[in-house]
Amino acid sequence: MTPMFKRPGPPPLPDSCYCTKCGAIVKNVEVGLTKKMINRGMTEYMCLTCLAEFTGLSEEELLRKAEQFKRMGCILFN
Ligand SMILES: [Zn+2]
Repeated sequence: MTPMFKRPGPPPLPDSCYCTKCGAIVKNVEVGLTKKMINRGMTEYMCLTCLAEFTGLSEEELLRKAEQFKRMGCILFN
């Protein structure tokens, strides 16, 4: 009998890892930005595009802010 090997797929993402607006997968940096720009206690996150729309900033500005926060050692961006 041939043993069956389960292919190790990516671990299932919790709901909070998807954009609440468009359903796109939200990256770490976007989680950090959502918390920083909207509310630290957020448990729902937005992707960069929706976050830009929400805050009125451009995606470039948001990424620049994320870099700043990271350089300041913000734990949200570790
Ligand atoms: Zn989105």
